[in-house]
Amino acid sequence: MIDWKENGTPVSREFNDIYFSPENGLEETKHVFLKGNRLEERLSSSETEHIFSILELGFGTGLNFLAAWQLWRNCKNKSSLQVLRFTSFEKYPLEREDIRKAISVFPELSELLDLFLEKYKLLIPGCNTFLFEKENLILDLWIGDAIQLLPETSGKFDAFFLDGFAPSKNPELWGENISLQLKRLSNKNASFATFTVARSVKDCLSSAGFSLSKIPGYGRKREMLVGVYESEPELDLNLIPFLRRIGSNQIPKKATVLGAGLAGASIARALAWRGIQVEVWDDHNALRASSVPMAVSHPHITKGETPTSLWTLRCLGNSIRRYSDLLPKDSYQISGTLQLSGEDLPWIRLEEGVKAHSLSKESAELRTELGENYPEESKGIFYPSGFWTDTPVLTEKLLNHPNIILKQGKVGSIFFEKEEWALFSENKETLNKTEVLILANSFGIESLLQGLWEESPFSLRSVRGQLEILEDSNIDSEKDPIHVGEKYLTPSKHGIRVNGSTFNEFDLDPNAKSKDREEILEYSQNTFLGVHWEQIKVRSDFVGIRSQTPDRFPIIGPIHSPEPFRKIYSGMGLPKNRKKEFPFLEPQKNLFVFGGLGSRGVLTSLLGGEILAEILLNEPLSIENSLYSSLHPSRFLYRKIRNQE
Ligand SMILES: Cc1cc2nc3c(=O)[nH]c(=O)nc-3n(C[C@H](O)[C@H](O)[C@H](O)COP(=O)(O)OP(=O)(O)OC[C@H]3O[C@@H](n4cnc5c(N)ncnc54)[C@H](O)[C@@H]3O)c2cc1C
Repeated sequence: MIDWKENGTPVSREFNDIYFSPENGLEETKHVFLKGNRLEERLSSSETEHIFSILELGFGTGLNFLAAWQLWRNCKNKSSLQVLRFTSFEKYPLEREDIRKAISVFPELSELLDLFLEKYKLLIPGCNTFLFEKENLILDLWIGDAIQLLPETSGKFDAFFLDGFAPSKNPELWGENISLQLKRLSNKNASFATFTVARSVKDCLSSAGFSLSKIPGYGRKREMLVGVYESEPELDLNLIPFLRRIGSNQIPKKATVLGAGLAGASIARALAWRGIQVEVWDDHNALRASSVPMAVSHPHITKGETPTSLWTLRCLGNSIRRYSDLLPKDSYQISGTLQLSGEDLPWIRLEEGVKAHSLSKESAELRTELGENYPEESKGIFYPSGFWTDTPVLTEKLLNHPNIILKQGKVGSIFFEKEEWALFSENKETLNKTEVLILANSFGIESLLQGLWEESPFSLRSVRGQLEILEDSNIDSEKDPIHVGEKYLTPSKHGIRVNGSTFNEFDLDPNAKSKDREEILEYSQNTFLGVHWEQIKVRSDFVGIRSQTPDRFPIIGPIHSPEPFRKIYSGMGLPKNRKKEFPFLEPQKNLFVFGGLGSRGVLTSLLGGEILAEILLNEPLSIENSLYSSLHPSRFLYRKIRNQE
């Protein structure tokens, strides 16, 4: 992928072109991309409200990203901006050590390089999010071909760094397909800068609506190109109408979140670090799922790429990149997960799935021989990055932010009046009034919506789960992987292991049952044979309620009132209407939901919370458009219409 010239210049093997010159590469970046986009002035501005977004083509060694980050650090204190987002595309991602070697010639970037490389892991095709909360910075690194990935990107950007290899060596990255995507993704007055003044590049950008100018290039390069998109931003016709977002610069200063489990804590945190004051209401229900003492997380691989596999892979990388910032060392462990194949997880699915997702050994390894620790002829998959989490600690740490206030009380109903949401207790006393309301109260969401509309925009099922908390006197069991079959067993943490769990939709009994305990222990003792069961005893049981959607994906986003949705979008699924342009229907004002986290909420809540904040604050999304359509709350209304047509 990378070759090195004698003087240390990194050269791309694919394109036979240099990444940058070690003598003056950083200065060139500063000249072409930072000055070319007037970034210092714009990042220091006190006029822009919330976010500044940069989109780059050609991540390479990350030099431009690190230089933009360095500038952001210098401007942040003078600026009214809360977030810098840097979205970049790279077809051939470099190894960590190659990036280190390339960038270490610029000592002024060494601190940022370390912070970045600490998170540079578990990259998979598509969008990989890096959140640097203390820096108010997000990097979305899209791995793959920009031509295919750009249509999957949503949101609007303020500046473009066009830094692919030279147009003569990599013409696809400079063609019309790309410039039309840049147009689609441009905010009003979005700028671009590039080192090339090639005629073909000028023509494409100009016909996409950018006004162009040539300015002096860096060093011996006489000229470079900059430009501005002066028109109003385009409506995003790439998306089905109800997924579109109408740009708004009205950023709320305050929001109320209902539910202080992982869903509520994650969205509250995502808003709080962006400078929004959040009040979180919760009634401390004993069946709160987020009280599960230790939860396990690993990806769910399907034969081909599906929303399930992509979503869980994205969430896994995202959680691991964030945990070291959020959690004390003893409240999670990346111990690896050994998952057995079986009736529910056929071997063929694993074999084909690993190939289809181009998973490296860092992400997944098929195991055909498991030895004596599992029943004869068992096969499985090992996820080196499978991890367990102390869920109550994660919830507590997320909520521990100066912009978050916790309130206790049961919300019995909600009502929208005079541009505000009012929250009432069961006795009809007003608990809170708020401009923006986020329902993250799991099994309590549907009953609140029933008070607003006759028909529910989605359905949520409550599923009871029981697990066993075990005491293990064998200290070596801390080094075990997580064992997963039809049940799972964590390694021990200070002598405690968790053995779960049951699923029951029809019996929501809050009390622990000996029948469930026997079911869990019997399966585990007959399957996880390497465990010293004779040194283990049951300490206690845990019962909680999961809230699950029919397709087992969470619901994340705004909520549409069912009746107007049906009126506006009926006929949308008919072949004769394939080309018909359906209007955008405003969702219910300032009402959002994050729920239906099902049995994977510990894995998915962190990324889910960030995505909801991105939607609420009109930021570019850190997942693919197609994946977002699987998470949007109105997908159920849409499917209902299509099924009836
Ligand atoms: C036994 C069991 C084992 C599990 N194991 C795993 C695992 O290994 N890995 C994994 O990823 N996930 C696991 N999960 C799932 C995970 O715990 C959940 O997906 C996640 O915790 C859900 O978070 P939540 O915030 O949506 O819901 P909850 O944690 O249930 O929080 C909802 C909160 O809303 C509050 N609330 C509800 N209604 C109201 C109201 N009207 N007014 C005020 N407050 C209200 C409740 O008191 C509660 O605190 C498990 C779940 C169970 C039950």
